[in-house]
Amino acid sequence: MKYILVTGGVISGIGKGVISSSFGAILKCCGIEVTSIKIDPYINLDAGTFSPYEHGEVYVLDDGGEVDLDLGNYERFLNITLHKENNITTGKIYKHVIDKERHGDYLGKTVQVVPHITDAIQEWVERVAQKPVSATGKTPEVCIIELGGIVGDIESMAFVEAFRQFQFRVKRENFCVAHVSLVPQPKTTGEHKTKPTQSSVRELRGLGLSPDIIVCRSEQPIGQSVKDKISNFCHVAPEQIISIPDLASVYEVPVFMENHGMAEFLCRRLQLGITPLPHIRKYMKPWIELGDRMSNLKHEITIGIVGKYTRLEDSYTSITKALRHAGNKVGFKINLKFIEASTLETSMLTDDPASYHNAWHNLCVCDGVVVPGGFGKRGVEGKIEACKWCRINDKPFLGICLGFQAAVIEFARNVLNLENANSTEVNEDTTHSVVIDMPEHNTGEMGGTMRLGKRTTVFRKPNSILKSLYGSKDQIDERHRHRYEVNPEYIEHFEDKGMNFVGVDIEQKRMEILELENHPYYVAVQYHPEYLSRPMDPSPPFLGLVLAAKDKLKSYLARGCKLSPREPQSDYYESDDELNELTVKQLNVTDQDDNSSAYSSSSLS
Ligand code: GLN
Repeated sequence: MKYILVTGGVISGIGKGVISSSFGAILKCCGIEVTSIKIDPYINLDAGTFSPYEHGEVYVLDDGGEVDLDLGNYERFLNITLHKENNITTGKIYKHVIDKERHGDYLGKTVQVVPHITDAIQEWVERVAQKPVSATGKTPEVCIIELGGIVGDIESMAFVEAFRQFQFRVKRENFCVAHVSLVPQPKTTGEHKTKPTQSSVRELRGLGLSPDIIVCRSEQPIGQSVKDKISNFCHVAPEQIISIPDLASVYEVPVFMENHGMAEFLCRRLQLGITPLPHIRKYMKPWIELGDRMSNLKHEITIGIVGKYTRLEDSYTSITKALRHAGNKVGFKINLKFIEASTLETSMLTDDPASYHNAWHNLCVCDGVVVPGGFGKRGVEGKIEACKWCRINDKPFLGICLGFQAAVIEFARNVLNLENANSTEVNEDTTHSVVIDMPEHNTGEMGGTMRLGKRTTVFRKPNSILKSLYGSKDQIDERHRHRYEVNPEYIEHFEDKGMNFVGVDIEQKRMEILELENHPYYVAVQYHPEYLSRPMDPSPPFLGLVLAAKDKLKSYLARGCKLSPREPQSDYYESDDELNELTVKQLNVTDQDDNSSAYSSSSLS
């Protein structure tokens, strides 16, 4: 097993996750099985109890793990399925060690950070790195480990010490360090400043880890003289320094890094035993095409996201990515409008009329609307307003989780005339509880108690838009995270009036998908389709919304879910399976085949 540790310097939030994922994407294109571990040095056991305002959205895995959103980057970039153990927190490590201590495993010894916590970290990493994460079921060959925060944080000290020891445990040719650092360009001088990077590299060295690669993040590319300076002061060769400026899309980062010879460097440094650079570059083609395609989208559509955490866009990161994946497939650039749900509520008309009118203006100019998931009372009435507006105005609509429940409440109130119908999450004493809690998932404990992770949905009606979009499968697997469900007692009334529950869980107990008759696209799902969307394989409910927003869904369905030959096609991408087979080892490519101009970074700005 080979390990790439990715550390951060100067400040966090400069794209360490995307850069770590890109290392993986490059290696995967070389036919190497890659896995990843994200370390979050906070005490929380997992991300389950976080407000989205803390670290952005809570990402959910197949096994029900509620984890940091960076794991989403890994799954999307590498097309892998991670386990909850691939996200390590200080809390998880301490709980593991304390449980062992209570069990008497330390034979009466004093339990200490060094060696017990540091040993536990190393053992955890070695164990989890071996777990297969791709459909091939093969044991990974390379594990990317991203250490959250920055080097020097008190919280991450035990982890840094663990990896200082780990480099000797696994040997030099199996372990390398990439340090991602900020190179600011203050407006006053206009020059790139290397001092913060120098200090953070010094700090890293002081803790016993030497960087093999220094990734310099900046707004504009840094020049050779700046690189030379970093090389001199940080005691690394210039070829070990790579500058990554801001790019138009995160999916351009792997190609950008590969243009700087990353694959060759990693193959040499980690003795990966694969073909040299000119051949390897050939296999970045799907990423090059994806980047080119993203910068050449012909049409534009505007999609509104009516949420309650709209102050921080990271709260809806998987949803925005899923929309862009869908847009990319059909050639549409997606303009997003984040609309704070509570500002759509009638009480705002008196409290803050400007925000109220602005929110409604934004909703009205959208070509399609997503009402995403959420928790608690605030904003629910606004979400219900948005559902009503989409329903009566034939506006393409996708409700997700709480958005699904809001669509049900709205229909109950305004079509079934069930006055004050509500969810018991919002009003425990409602006369018409059309959304109720699932008692086994409402235990009073907050962390890890919801209906979480991958569950199967069965289609129970033959004529369903979503069924067609999912390739006419009889059942599908999607990820869940909820505590409330649609009350099955009301289903007949809804279906009599045209709101059909076309998908249910495998035990036929829980409603999973609704579709409204006589509407271009009014679809809502109890699960979270955004977590399984991939850049080259968009999620069907999002694809439906994006097509319907441009009035192209009907013709797409009529053609058997194929884009018209006149539409920009994305089907020229190899499927992921084909891609996996296309390994460096298997293909016999001559040097003439390698047309380097095909890898130019013209699309990167
Ligand atoms: N609050 C709702 C529930 O727990 C919806 C959850 C969600 O949107 N993720 O059922």
